[in-house]
Amino acid sequence: MILNASNKIAVKCSECGKYNVSDFNMFNLKVNNTIRCNCNKDIVLIGFNATDIILKISCIACDNYHIYNIKRKDILEKNINIVACPDSGMEIAFFGKTPYIDDIIEKYMNDMLNLLKFIGVVEDKSKRVLK
Ligand SMILES: [Zn+2]
Ligand SMILES: [Zn+2]
Repeated sequence: MILNASNKIAVKCSECGKYNVSDFNMFNLKVNNTIRCNCNKDIVLIGFNATDIILKISCIACDNYHIYNIKRKDILEKNINIVACPDSGMEIAFFGKTPYIDDIIEKYMNDMLNLLKFIGVVEDKSKRVLK
């Protein structure tokens, strides 16, 4: 099995509404990383512990910050992960293996509904929020 540590995260900026796409390498997280939008808003803080990647995301839906603990295992095993606002259910970020994220962004960046259908989360609300 080839472990591909190349991941990307796409997050919708809570300030200007644009998607920001950043690389992150889960084996190379030594300090906390901040993803800053072009509009100067800090939209994601990426932290980590022994087993989890911890994402603190500025939510476009409700203006709060949400904290998501994502298992490293999930990032390794799943091609795509999605996080949603726990209050509104709106998807605010997705991340995963670089080729998949690139593919999604190219095809679906302007069409969230098709994106969600493509990933298969539209029908299944219970799985939309990762905790
Ligand atoms: Zn912005
Ligand atoms: Zn929210």
